[in-house]
Amino acid sequence: MPELPEVEHAVRRLRGWIATRAIVRAEAHHKAIRRTLTPRRLASLQGRAVRDVSRRGKHQFVHLDDARVLHVHFRMNGDWAWVAPGADAPRHVRLTLHLDDGARVVLTDSRALATAVLLDDVAPVLAELGPEADDPALTPRAFHAMLAGKRTPIKVALLDQRLLAGVGNIYATEGLWHARVDPRVAAGALTLAQARAVLTGVRKALGRGMRREGRYAEGDSHEFLVYDREGAPCRHRDGGTIRRIVQGGRSTYHCPRCQRR
Ligand SMILES: [Zn+2]
Repeated sequence: MPELPEVEHAVRRLRGWIATRAIVRAEAHHKAIRRTLTPRRLASLQGRAVRDVSRRGKHQFVHLDDARVLHVHFRMNGDWAWVAPGADAPRHVRLTLHLDDGARVVLTDSRALATAVLLDDVAPVLAELGPEADDPALTPRAFHAMLAGKRTPIKVALLDQRLLAGVGNIYATEGLWHARVDPRVAAGALTLAQARAVLTGVRKALGRGMRREGRYAEGDSHEFLVYDREGAPCRHRDGGTIRRIVQGGRSTYHCPRCQRR
């Protein structure tokens, strides 16, 4: 599932393809997309110039010259692809933006869970999001205060976008391993030192993902330090063996030896 680094790199690619272009036509190819991008809304995109592409958490915003915003969320495995003039589109295209240079930008998604919505105002989306996980303005002390009173396990709390925007299952798992904190400990029970370690650990994991150009995809388990490594030796070289547990319906991997309560 694309998380902050994957979405950030997707936004950078998309910005390079469309930020100075105009949309000459838009097509939706799946009923889930057509529910929000009706024929009338798709037609309203015709001739619109793109001003910029931005990101907040895992949300993408294509800013149009009429002040509207195309809000896209990849969900499980959405992605963008650029298609040269006259070339065949890749598989699983859900949305096509035909550009004024003859190229196309397409939203691909084999699961058809990605969403695309036209908004007049992004404020309601932003209001649901906590600070960016990698925002240097978020201090360990402020993060610790945000966790106060929370009885949910820290791993589950990290997935709540109202707490930290951009973190998902992989980076939460990896971050807690860097922090040497047990994913099952109640978020509100963390000491300030542990909260600092978790914030630093999550940022370290996100930084690794950013350097891999957001290609930290599921299936590339050799790229992970603890995620998807059940039964393998802990890379902290402490003799521990990675265990898999399920929290909130999602797999969590941890080392019982170094990730203490
Ligand atoms: Zn360990």
